[in-house]
Amino acid sequence: MHIDYDYIFVDECSYCGGPYECDDHVRAYSKGGVFTIPCCDECNLNKYNKGLKTWLREVRDYWPEKWDEIVGHHYRRRNWLSQIVHDVQYEY
Ligand SMILES: [Zn+2]
Repeated sequence: MHIDYDYIFVDECSYCGGPYECDDHVRAYSKGGVFTIPCCDECNLNKYNKGLKTWLREVRDYWPEKWDEIVGHHYRRRNWLSQIVHDVQYEY
């Protein structure tokens, strides 16, 4: 299965498909991260300075409505972020 590692996110929240309201530092700015992707305020505020997988696991386990949005948004997608979402979805 081809995975697009260079995929560029535009015009919507890269995590949940919600509105593009801010730019999220995938690795927290406070931890030296510089790379950003479009994000909604809701995801950005909740993710705060957590690591990507740490945050996704927290959403999976404690915020089912948002997790459904994220999983739905990444269903059948094959970019680098979708792969991480799928990893977290199926790990136990
Ligand atoms: Zn979002």
